Amino acid sequence: MTKIGLEIHGYIVSNEKLFCKCKSEHGLKYSKPNTNICPTCCGMPGAKPLLPNKKAMNKVIQIALILGCKINKKLVWARKHYDWPDLPKGYQNTISGPYAIPVGEKGKFLGIKITEAHLEEDPAAWNPKTGEIDYNRSGSPLIEIVTEPDFKNSEEVIAWLKQLISTLNYIKAIDKNVGIKADVNISVSGGKRIEIKNINSLKNIKTAIAYEIQRQQKELPKIQETRMFEETKGITIKMRTKEEAQDYRFISEPDLPVIKIEKSRVEKIKSELPETPHEKLKKLIKKYKIKKSSAEVLTKKFEVVEFFEKIIEKTNPKLAVRWVTEELLSVLNYNKKELEDVEIKPEHFIELLKKIEKGFITELNAKDILRSWKEKSSSPKIKEHSQISGTKEIEKICKQIIKENKKAVEDYKSGKKESLNFLIGQVMRLSNKRADFETTRKILKEKLKK
Ligand SMILES: [Zn+2]
Repeated sequence: MTKIGLEIHGYIVSNEKLFCKCKSEHGLKYSKPNTNICPTCCGMPGAKPLLPNKKAMNKVIQIALILGCKINKKLVWARKHYDWPDLPKGYQNTISGPYAIPVGEKGKFLGIKITEAHLEEDPAAWNPKTGEIDYNRSGSPLIEIVTEPDFKNSEEVIAWLKQLISTLNYIKAIDKNVGIKADVNISVSGGKRIEIKNINSLKNIKTAIAYEIQRQQKELPKIQETRMFEETKGITIKMRTKEEAQDYRFISEPDLPVIKIEKSRVEKIKSELPETPHEKLKKLIKKYKIKKSSAEVLTKKFEVVEFFEKIIEKTNPKLAVRWVTEELLSVLNYNKKELEDVEIKPEHFIELLKKIEKGFITELNAKDILRSWKEKSSSPKIKEHSQISGTKEIEKICKQIIKENKKAVEDYKSGKKESLNFLIGQVMRLSNKRADFETTRKILKEKLKK
């Protein structure tokens, strides 16, 4: 039977690095190389670590709790030794290895057993082609989540990872702009365990697992080994025979004390945990009778579902679902913004939906108002937007449009039905989108029959 286990690495959202006060940023898009550095994160001789960043510690406890882990009372930091250009100290500080007690262990998340969740520092970024090293990343807090080999195929892995990522994004625990990396352990019946290191996207994880299962079924692995994923070819390549824990010469860290996690601290974090996307989804379907597909869109982002929950109680549910999942999200997408980047007040949105429902404004005009809220919302003014639903007034405008657009009228009469849409558009333009759509269509059709 195929068995797959994961070691997932993600950057903890934190302003500061783990053992110094330097800014924690990941990637070149933020700062020039080697600008957020100090003797501690550059591993200079004699530089000592500060106590681990409390905010990062709290985040890891929060994640471990969401994963159903038991939180340990004492954390022991260890040194994991290896020589590599990105590691100036010659060791990495981690809460993993044979002597360490992880932050959380023995959890379960959506049917998959969690072995442990722990914290460690990131090494620097090394470019093997140029030899350049950027220490901005060095010392940033990383979480590692280790699962039991409970997965049977790549589909299961991807579906689970998607849920995990959306949950971690939900509680703003990991830096979503950087994403996750995973080491994947795979073994097939009768074969040894193979580890594929550092795969950096869901797509690549899926490809690597599918390739590796096929490969192992053909040539059953006799010894443990570590492989890497070659993205351009979609295959895995042998790196080395698998290193053992003793190869890293783990020792407990003499410069850091044992960290005590008080019960009250865990209880406080527990009491402040938000609902997971999974729980929210169930609630939306049950409490508000929302279709699963819409509920899935709503629960993808925490801010969106929070916003929705604020307006659903005070508006027509059907209208609210459509206006949040379609109109609001498309305006945000168009402007390449997230809901938290713009200041749209729920009360303004509620007002807008009420005006649509009461027929004070047309949906087209409401869309214009929504589009004007690119930076922030304001109370929707209906005077200049108020809907015209009186037949007489619309009839007058239709007459004028028919008079002014002889070509389109002829086209329609000779069978080009799409000309009607053009004429409706003209009525909308002339009425400043205030004419009721259905009434306009009816009147135009009637008039064109003659
Ligand atoms: Zn530093």
